[in-house]
Amino acid sequence: MKTALVCGAGGFIGSHLVKKLKGEGFWVRGVDLKLPEYSVTVADEFVVGDLRDQLFCQKMLDRSFDEVYQLAADMGGAGYIFTGNHDADVMHNSATINLNMAYYSQKVGVKKIFYSSSACIYPAYNQLDPDNPKCSEDSAYPAEPDSEYGWEKLFSERLYLSFYRNYNLNVRIARFHNIFGPEGTWQGGKEKAPAAICRKIAETPDGGEIEVWGDGKQTRSFLFIDECLEGVRRLMDSDFIGPVNVGSEEMVSINQLAEMVMNIAGKKLSIKHVEGPNGVRGRNSDNHLIAKKLGWQPTRPLRIGLELMYKWILEQVSDKK
Ligand code: NAD
Repeated sequence: MKTALVCGAGGFIGSHLVKKLKGEGFWVRGVDLKLPEYSVTVADEFVVGDLRDQLFCQKMLDRSFDEVYQLAADMGGAGYIFTGNHDADVMHNSATINLNMAYYSQKVGVKKIFYSSSACIYPAYNQLDPDNPKCSEDSAYPAEPDSEYGWEKLFSERLYLSFYRNYNLNVRIARFHNIFGPEGTWQGGKEKAPAAICRKIAETPDGGEIEVWGDGKQTRSFLFIDECLEGVRRLMDSDFIGPVNVGSEEMVSINQLAEMVMNIAGKKLSIKHVEGPNGVRGRNSDNHLIAKKLGWQPTRPLRIGLELMYKWILEQVSDKK
């Protein structure tokens, strides 16, 4: 039986990944500061602990796992990443986890390790035009990420690549572009745009008003969780190291995203644009490289994922009442 370690298994992507790996027949150890919030973990073993702690990290890597998935990070949506209030924690916590994970994975001889980087590594100067952002993998340098979160991700990409060059650590690196879906953070300040917009629309009676940060003309693409995991597994099964974008090329403005969710909800609401953290003006995945290297790329229309997402958020909002 193949063995996998999933770090960040209590989080959004990690908890879904554990389910996928179990479905594929892996023996899975999940590790996180917390248990998954929205469903019971299906991991064979789930250890609650802090991967910043070297001894704990070493203990979690007590065998040469066939596959390690390093998803643990101090992260959140724009309200967490772009205010600047969490920069020191984001950099220190995530970098410490990655320093430990790269070192002990190499030491114990794990067969393959996946690292989740982010579209936030791309230079701000290529993302000023909302209609024409540039996010091809080779455009990462000269580096100018728009957040400390992006700088830490870029540092850690380089860290894992150094371990690959100097110690043959067999790495795979993906740059995720706004992954969304059920069972992710949807309230409390760390939620990302699709969850925040679905929640606001679910909570507001027909004819009411929701707030959107900025002028809503900033553009993004959003990838549903199951296509994200499909990309991760295909990358792990390939010989391609990356970094490679794992994202959708269906770019929409935040206003269009809100309109789409209103349409799904069957509500007509007005949008009030308010001051708020925004990030870059435009961002979209560029899927040339993934299509070339893996012979696959995400294709599912955004609306289909949003329907599933809205349904789940509506249940959460109703349960809270
Ligand atoms: P998440 O916040 O839901 O999951 C991250 C998990 O890491 C959390 O459960 C958290 O408790 C855990 N963690 C944090 N510090 C830890 C520590 N010291 N020890 C052990 N566990 C710790 O986020 P997610 O959306 O599931 O993202 C997973 C990964 O993908 C992260 O590395 C994130 O940066 C990256 N990523 C996500 C997106 C996205 O759109 N969701 C986009 C780009 C990159």
